[in-house]
Amino acid sequence: MIQMQNLPAVHGRLEPQLSEAISRVVSSGVYIRGNEVRSLEDELARYIGVKYARTCGNGTDALTIALMALRLQPGDEVITTTFSFIAAAEACALLGLVPVFADIDPKTFNISPSEIERLISSRTRAIIPVHLFGCPADMESVMRIARRHKLYVIEDFAQAFGSETTYEGKRYRVGAIGTIGCTSFYPTKNLGCMGDGGAVFTQDEELSRRINMISTHGAEKKYQSTEIGLNSRLDEIQAAILRIKLRHIDQYVARRRGVALKYRAALAANDFVVCPQMTDGHTFNQFTIRVNYGCRDNLRAYLTARQIATMIYIPPIHRQKVFEAYNNISLPVADTAIGEVLSLPMHTELTDDEINEVCTRINEWQIGMK
Ligand SMILES: *Cc1c(COP(=O)(O)O)cnc(C)c1O
Repeated sequence: MIQMQNLPAVHGRLEPQLSEAISRVVSSGVYIRGNEVRSLEDELARYIGVKYARTCGNGTDALTIALMALRLQPGDEVITTTFSFIAAAEACALLGLVPVFADIDPKTFNISPSEIERLISSRTRAIIPVHLFGCPADMESVMRIARRHKLYVIEDFAQAFGSETTYEGKRYRVGAIGTIGCTSFYPTKNLGCMGDGGAVFTQDEELSRRINMISTHGAEKKYQSTEIGLNSRLDEIQAAILRIKLRHIDQYVARRRGVALKYRAALAANDFVVCPQMTDGHTFNQFTIRVNYGCRDNLRAYLTARQIATMIYIPPIHRQKVFEAYNNISLPVADTAIGEVLSLPMHTELTDDEINEVCTRINEWQIGMK
C-alpha cells in the first residue's frame, strides 16, 4: 500500500535523538513552559524571521488567540477563503465574528485578491489568507488591499511552514508578512510534533504581549487575569521533539519539492490531469492535482483498487452544514475545484519507486479512458 503519510519512518530516522530528548524532559520534572518551550520559541522566531513566536495548544487555538489579540468585536467581518480547513472560520464564529467567504484562484487554490475587494464592507476588519497545500498566497495583493482599507492580516500557514515568497522586493517566510502568522504542528504538517501543537508569530511587541497573556488565561501575572483568555499551551515533550525536527526542516521541504518535480515530470504528458505549478517557495504539504472530464472519482477508485491512497481536500466551508446560512452563495471556482481535486501521496519518505508506481498507474488509467 502506498500511503498518504509515513510518520514512523520520519521519526525512525531521528532515533536516538528523539528518545534522548523525551527522556531528558521526563527526568527534568518540568512538563509545561520550561526551557524546551522557551528555546523552541526563540528558534521558531528566528526561522520564520519575526521578533516574537509564542507556542500554543494547536493551530486552531493559534487563530483564535490571534483574533482575540487584535480585539476584534462581535459583528466584525473577517474575509477568508472558502477552500480551506474549517479552523479559521470556526475561530471567527466562536468569537461572534462574521466570516465572509471568498472564492479562489483556480491555479493556486488560494484566496483570490479580486474576491477580497468584492467582499469588503464597512464592517470588515481583517483578512485571513491561507497558504493552502504549502503554496504561498498572493501576499503582495493581500497586503496592498489591507493597507488601503486599514485591515489586519492573519496568515494561516498551518500547511505551509517553511514556504517562502517575495513581498515588496524582499524574500520572506510565510507567516512573517501579515500582522500575525498562525501555524499548526499537527503530525502531518510540514513541521509536525507527536500530538497537537501550534504557534503564533508577530513583529509587534504589544501584540506579542497580548498573545502571551491571552494564551495564559488572560493573565500577565499568575492568578491575576485582566481579560478572558484561553488555556492553550504546547508541552515540553512536544517542544523537545519539534526542536529536533526544526533542524531538518530545510531537508523536509527540499524533499517535498523534489517529489513534486518528479510527479510533474512523469504526469506532464497526461492530459487528464493538471498538476500544481512549481510556484516559487511552495512546500507541497499536499500535491493536489485536478482531474479533467469529470473523471476524478473514477481515477480515485482505480488507484484505491491498486493500493494507492489518495484524498479529497477539502469541502468548501460555505457548503458545510455548520455554515448553513451560506450554503446557497455562489463561489463557482471553489465549487468546481472540489469536484476535480485529488491529493496524491506526498511526504518526505516517498521513494522514487513509489512515485513511479503512482504515476505509472495514473498514466495507464488514462490510456484506458481514451
Ligand atoms: C491543520 C490546519 C489548521 C488547524 O490546525 P490544528 O492544529 O489541527 O488545530 C488550520 N488551518 C489549516 C489550513 C490547517 O490545515
